[in-house]
Amino acid sequence: MYKEIQVRIKPEEAAQEEELKRIAARALAIVPGRICRVDMVRRSIDARQRTVLFNMLLGVHIDRIEEREKVFIPAYRDVSDGKPVIVVGAGPAGLFAALRLIERGFRPIVLERGKAVENRKKDLNRLYKTGIVNDDSNFGFGEGGAGTFSDGKLYTRSKKRGDVRRILEILVHHGAAEHILVDAHPHVGTDKLPGVIVNIRKTIEKYGGEVHFDTRVTDLLIRGNNIYGVVTDGREVLAGQVILATGHSARDVYRMLHVRDVRMEAKDFAVGVRLEHPQRLIDCMQYHTRDGRGPWLPAAEYNFVADIDGRGVYSFCMCPGGVVVPAATAPGQQVVNGMSSSARNTPWANSAMVTAIGKQELESMNYHGLFAGLEFQETLEYRAFQEGGGGLWAPGQRLTDFLAGKYSQSLPSASYKPGVKSSLLHVWLPKMVSRRLSTALTYFGQRAKGFVTAEALLLGVETRTSSPIRIPRNEEARHPEIVGLYPCGEGAGYAGGIVSAAMDGEKCAESISELF
Ligand SMILES: Cc1cc2nc3c(=O)[nH]c(=O)nc-3n(C[C@H](O)[C@H](O)[C@H](O)COP(=O)(O)OP(=O)(O)OC[C@H]3O[C@@H](n4cnc5c(N)ncnc54)[C@H](O)[C@@H]3O)c2cc1C
Repeated sequence: MYKEIQVRIKPEEAAQEEELKRIAARALAIVPGRICRVDMVRRSIDARQRTVLFNMLLGVHIDRIEEREKVFIPAYRDVSDGKPVIVVGAGPAGLFAALRLIERGFRPIVLERGKAVENRKKDLNRLYKTGIVNDDSNFGFGEGGAGTFSDGKLYTRSKKRGDVRRILEILVHHGAAEHILVDAHPHVGTDKLPGVIVNIRKTIEKYGGEVHFDTRVTDLLIRGNNIYGVVTDGREVLAGQVILATGHSARDVYRMLHVRDVRMEAKDFAVGVRLEHPQRLIDCMQYHTRDGRGPWLPAAEYNFVADIDGRGVYSFCMCPGGVVVPAATAPGQQVVNGMSSSARNTPWANSAMVTAIGKQELESMNYHGLFAGLEFQETLEYRAFQEGGGGLWAPGQRLTDFLAGKYSQSLPSASYKPGVKSSLLHVWLPKMVSRRLSTALTYFGQRAKGFVTAEALLLGVETRTSSPIRIPRNEEARHPEIVGLYPCGEGAGYAGGIVSAAMDGEKCAESISELF
């Protein structure tokens, strides 16, 4: 017999199978000896009270082990002779579009400007060594896209956009650990993600799809209203359907689309800084302890949001036990982001702290037109580059100094490897941004004891949380004017994160398959 029960238990109980059996037996009023196995079906942490508890849905096998449904295995088929579809970009949107095309009998031709994961890793090592950004191979560009060297957080608020469980199961099928199907806030970790991405590539190739690296798409082939292919560094690749999943850092793609008269729209986005604390401090704050998280709890997270002047200011993409990384995609930019390994075990916790920016704000700062947001991002990144002193150095300021409007005479130790230079962020960040951040951070400090501390460090700048441009599309995910063009994922403005980008890739593939 198999029964599911909901329990609230201590973290140390949750970690031991014999303890789980005992708890399940008590809940079901049977002797522990009858329980053959206990599966975790769902797990979340409740840290609202002084005693931190795990909320768990347990699957209990009584008297014998019941065969349960295995993780679903997608029905991929040989598409060597299938109708070709060009997929530009091998980020989560492009890769999941390719997988879904294969399920539906189409042959994806994936064109990626960056390198395969193995070689991309070498370029990232080179980036740290030389401080020079390769504009086709970096933290944003290359196999797996911006999601490969990340935290691999897999939760999304956009559950209405698709089947989240299906995306997680496909990741498990390609090598991600099964606990991502159980945890309320699943994450994979940057040590495990590359392996999963390589397995996805192998699936695409095994079933007759193609994946081409070092292949930057520089133009679209459009006749009348119809797309019939793309140009890659002088070579033409032909197909009547093109999924454009190039991410929001591919600014050259937006500019190329503009030259080609492809309609786009400006949209709201967010900018700010990355904030880093000692992880121990966040653990004490969130788990209500004096001495960290102990052996049974994971590195703690936080999630803050405030409304300042009618605009959101919020924490985003938090990486507990992680590191801050240089995420520029071209020389002369300074951009920060965060990543962590599956163990989330560094001494630091980092998170973006950003505020929404829209048309009105941009106009008040003298940025106008379709590319206003993009130009604003570029200006900030260039300023941060200068403030950091060039190379990959990031401008930084202690949180308490930022709030007090003071220069930091010294900086706390930081995870950011290239180096941090003391800088007056409160002065050179646009007034609107620094004022909102300052008000919100003070408010967060009032809500969470210990959050505002001289040990916390602000690093500039965080400009790549979302796209400042949307490429419009109709109900069928197709561009309204260019027949055969499917703007997809974060760069097109329809996703914000790994899972939502993957779901959007599937959506575009499904839309194409329903046409034929
Ligand atoms: C350091 C970091 C950490 C992150 N952590 C998380 C996280 O933990 N959880 C989460 O949900 N999200 C995270 N994100 C965001 C997440 O990675 C993105 O939301 C997601 O990858 C977007 O997917 P996408 O496929 O739409 O675009 P991208 O991942 O940006 O992929 C676009 C791809 O297109 C390629 N490309 C661009 N231009 C061209 C061209 N002209 N020709 C050919 N190829 C081209 C690029 O090289 C890239 O591989 C993180 C991002 C970064 C940078």
